[in-house]
Amino acid sequence: MFQVAIYGKGGIGKSTMAANISFSLASRGMKVMQVGCDPKHDSTRLLLGGKAQTTVLDYVRSTPVFRRKLEDVVAVGSGGVMCAEAGGPEPGIGCAGRGILTTFDTLKKLGADSMDVDVKIYDVLGDVVCGGFAVPLRGEYADAVILVTSGEFMSMYAANNIMKGLSNFDTGKPRVLGMILNSRGVDGEEESVRRFADAAGIPVIAVIPRDDAFRDAEANGHTVREMHPESEISKRVDEISGMIADAAVGKRGLFYPKPLDDLQLSDLAAGRDIRPGTGAPADRIPCSGCGRRTTIRDTRIMNSCAAFGAMSAFLRIIDFTVILHGPRSCMYLMDMSHAGSSLQLHSRGLYDFPPRHNLVCTMMDDSVSIFGGVRMLEECLEKTLNDGADKVAVVTTCMPGIIGDDTARVVEKASAAHPGAMVVHMPTDGDVAGEYGDGVKMAVESILGMIDKSVKSEEGFVNLVGTSFFDIHSRRYADEVDRMLVVFGERINCRFLDEMTYDTLVNYCRASVDILVSDVPANRELMGMITEHTGRKPFQAPLPVGMREYAEWMRLMGARTGRSEDAEREIDAARKEYDECVKMRRRRFEGKKAIVISRMNRSSDWLVDLLLDLGVKIVRLGCFPSPRKDGTDALSRYIGMLTENYSIDMLEDDMDRLSPDLLICDLIYPVRNGCRFARIGKAGIGLRGVLDYAEYLENILRLPATDGWREAVR
Ligand code: SF4
Repeated sequence: MFQVAIYGKGGIGKSTMAANISFSLASRGMKVMQVGCDPKHDSTRLLLGGKAQTTVLDYVRSTPVFRRKLEDVVAVGSGGVMCAEAGGPEPGIGCAGRGILTTFDTLKKLGADSMDVDVKIYDVLGDVVCGGFAVPLRGEYADAVILVTSGEFMSMYAANNIMKGLSNFDTGKPRVLGMILNSRGVDGEEESVRRFADAAGIPVIAVIPRDDAFRDAEANGHTVREMHPESEISKRVDEISGMIADAAVGKRGLFYPKPLDDLQLSDLAAGRDIRPGTGAPADRIPCSGCGRRTTIRDTRIMNSCAAFGAMSAFLRIIDFTVILHGPRSCMYLMDMSHAGSSLQLHSRGLYDFPPRHNLVCTMMDDSVSIFGGVRMLEECLEKTLNDGADKVAVVTTCMPGIIGDDTARVVEKASAAHPGAMVVHMPTDGDVAGEYGDGVKMAVESILGMIDKSVKSEEGFVNLVGTSFFDIHSRRYADEVDRMLVVFGERINCRFLDEMTYDTLVNYCRASVDILVSDVPANRELMGMITEHTGRKPFQAPLPVGMREYAEWMRLMGARTGRSEDAEREIDAARKEYDECVKMRRRRFEGKKAIVISRMNRSSDWLVDLLLDLGVKIVRLGCFPSPRKDGTDALSRYIGMLTENYSIDMLEDDMDRLSPDLLICDLIYPVRNGCRFARIGKAGIGLRGVLDYAEYLENILRLPATDGWREAVR
């Protein structure tokens, strides 16, 4: 089957042209199908005696999946041409582009691809080349593309946009058959279109004159080709269908278009000679590997989307329900990630599993995305509130953002109807508001507004602050934190942002001090937001890791609570335990060479301290550049030893030149020549964390350098 997409600006006559071409192809004895992809759904009217047919999108909306049949949406028209119409939503609601995708998908599922068809014609609106309307440009659909234009500038502008869209779906093969000038009778029309086509490097394959025969045939619900087969117009149409038939069997060549840039378009509009273009896709160098020419640049990978960030933040308040307004696929991905980390935490003995979170999804499907999802959100929100949820956050995914659902209005209405409930609107629109961290920030802004700033602080309570409590998500380290606080008669009031109740959140200010879980940029940023909102300042030191930080932290807490003697007693006991651990293990580490590579956003001083105490020679201390958007800097006592902007190439070189016994790194890296590998991110909180890490390193050194499975992998 050969597939042809006919594109043109709305009202330019592309549907009339498409129907004439389809009939002409059928007259050659070919089996033809025409699919109208214009929300106006009048592409096949002239093939159906002027009658409209059921559109695929109306059918999808009104017919359950199990009742759908291909014959309900494919009508047989003049010359046996099979006709289908996509249709579209009401103006101003939903997404017509998305409708095209659904139409293609539905026709495929109903078996249209296995119909006995020689040529399929797609008649597509070319004003908007969004992702949906560009679907027929994809390699799997259009083998050839025809552009219909008049000599009016906006019509050529639309044709130029289509060529740009086409270059983004480059299949590595030329695909433009040419341009059809459908005359409007404007001055110098043919000359303008030929200049445009020349500059774009494609031929004008037909000039269709203005002719009353069109009006006459349309008034009777037929194509000119059918009603006036001997006319001049029919001859031109037959020439076009001949070209399509030749292209289908490889007898006629196709072209790579070179869409005009802005300056060239201004030359075209002004009637000047069109200057040479700059960097048109056709001039780009093909990839030496696959021969494809690429046009999409600056493709960045995000950690995850803002919707996920906002959802995760709200789910940390255990009595909040999150309604994710979007398709189930988004919920599946997000819930799996969220539940996955909860499962990990459960296995460390801290969280319940399944996690105690309340996540609901509006389960938008294709039809909803086309016709708008407001009703689904209204129903879902109403049901959630009627089921007893009294604190709800509505987080929006990409789809409602793309189709323009007015979710703010839905939230407003629900809040008015349920005055006792709290409904928060989080219009993240998937990734429109940014990546994961941006979504967390949006949610935090809103969550901070729930804190009652009039609550008086009480001695004996502390808040822990961090975007990730991963380091203290095992019972072992949670106990370690409790043990450290008990020395000063303190206990935890609120873990912000971690599993907390709405009540502890509201009473956040009850604690007399806020302590960062760790000194990383995300936590500093979070604390900055808290300070801005409540005026509270963080404690001088975050939760400590390693002996040195532990002693410092104890002294600071002792001074703060007036219990310095208790602090010194605890430091002495801890020092004894630490020294014993180091002494016991030192003989295995003494004189060993280590390379330590970490990321810039986390201090590794505790590790350097430990290695030096164990007698290890650190031959390289390196930092990978921070992947964070704004860049960060680590505060380190060992800054003089540090190689900044360290890279994998440098590591490769160091592995050969420095012959380390141990590589400690946050990236998994294949070591060689008897070197052992250890992950850097394994330290827990407090003294316990560093003692455990020393044991972990010793076990790594005790293992054979090249064990069986590594050999097998190599
Ligand atoms: S980026 Fe958009 S589509 Fe992807 S998971 Fe997030 S909300 Fe869903």
